[in-house]
Amino acid sequence: FDGYNIEDAVIMNKASIERGIGRSTYARTYKTEAQRFWGGQKDEIGTPDKDVRGYRSEEDYAHLDQDGIVNPETEVESDDVLVGKTSPPKFLGSGGGDEVKMGLADRRETSLTVRHGEEGKIDQVMVSETSEGDKLIKLKLRNYRIPELGDKFATRHGQKGTVGMIVPEENMPFTNQGITPDMILSTHAIPSRMTVSQLIEIIGGKVGAMRGEPVDGTAFHSEDKDELRDQLEKLGFQRSGKEKMYNGVTGEEMEAEILIGPGYYLKLDHQVGDKIHARGRGPVTLLTKQPTEGRSQEGGLRLGEMEKDVFVGHGASLLLKERFGADATEIMICENCGEMGIHDKAENRDYCPHCDAGDMDKTDVPHAFLLLMNELKSMMIDTELELEEDN
Ligand SMILES: [Zn+2]
Repeated sequence: FDGYNIEDAVIMNKASIERGIGRSTYARTYKTEAQRFWGGQKDEIGTPDKDVRGYRSEEDYAHLDQDGIVNPETEVESDDVLVGKTSPPKFLGSGGGDEVKMGLADRRETSLTVRHGEEGKIDQVMVSETSEGDKLIKLKLRNYRIPELGDKFATRHGQKGTVGMIVPEENMPFTNQGITPDMILSTHAIPSRMTVSQLIEIIGGKVGAMRGEPVDGTAFHSEDKDELRDQLEKLGFQRSGKEKMYNGVTGEEMEAEILIGPGYYLKLDHQVGDKIHARGRGPVTLLTKQPTEGRSQEGGLRLGEMEKDVFVGHGASLLLKERFGADATEIMICENCGEMGIHDKAENRDYCPHCDAGDMDKTDVPHAFLLLMNELKSMMIDTELELEEDN
């Protein structure tokens, strides 16, 4: 089908999807506890005050009711607050001076939020108690899903494939009777995998649908497949279950005859909605200053060694420089001894802590390289850099 059914991809009929084929509901439970701490401190449920440390935006709390919990049937999006919660300050005790200045004495925002990249409707809300007597809130988020490009489907014979194209009904191939398939799978999926049972299922399904009576497909006394073929013939079809079909776009008769009939499909729990991901700017890890990993953390997509080779192959040198130089950090190097220099803020002066003699030269290095030098230093291995004149 124009190549869109390559590598086990299936073609789906758009009209079938609109009629409701393959729809599913995805549910996820969220829970949070209002814990009590030593010294009478405790978590509090409710819309947080604006002076709470880590306060989000008013918009994020918009769905919360008086009690600080969202109501059932509320439509929520990624990162929306489901249960407003604040926790006591991290460090108890003195509680004065520095801690107040650093904000450590304030209550912290610890609300329960919708997972990043997910959305849906609140199905149920439950308020209860844990075995320790703490307040426990559980929510069920439901997400209604319509098949889309990239969703995975499989038969009971292990023939799995993703949706490669969704075709308008008028462009799908049709039979003499004007029947249009819900789904098309490639013939290449059959010979090597030897799922003959699938072909028998289709023939059996066709007989059952036409005669209006179920077919016994159990393991030990199922209906004879030749018997089924005879019945198919009596019903006015070919014994093989194949039919003459016509190209939906041109209307031309297709050269080969095609097996068509009812078959059972399951929707697999690999849906693009759960996997699709991209980012422009975003969070970085504290240590390396490189982008975080993984979709749930809004992470970046690694441009690894092999991907680098692709850019090299295309001669895209400026793009490469941009990619790999994105985390450039300026360091100072001593002209005299090659050690890293220091900036003295009090005296506003750059100097070498090693020899305090040479002039300082500035240069950009990737932050990861600076990290490497510092880690080597922690293992008593010194690095000296010699800079060349910048052309
Ligand atoms: Zn020096």
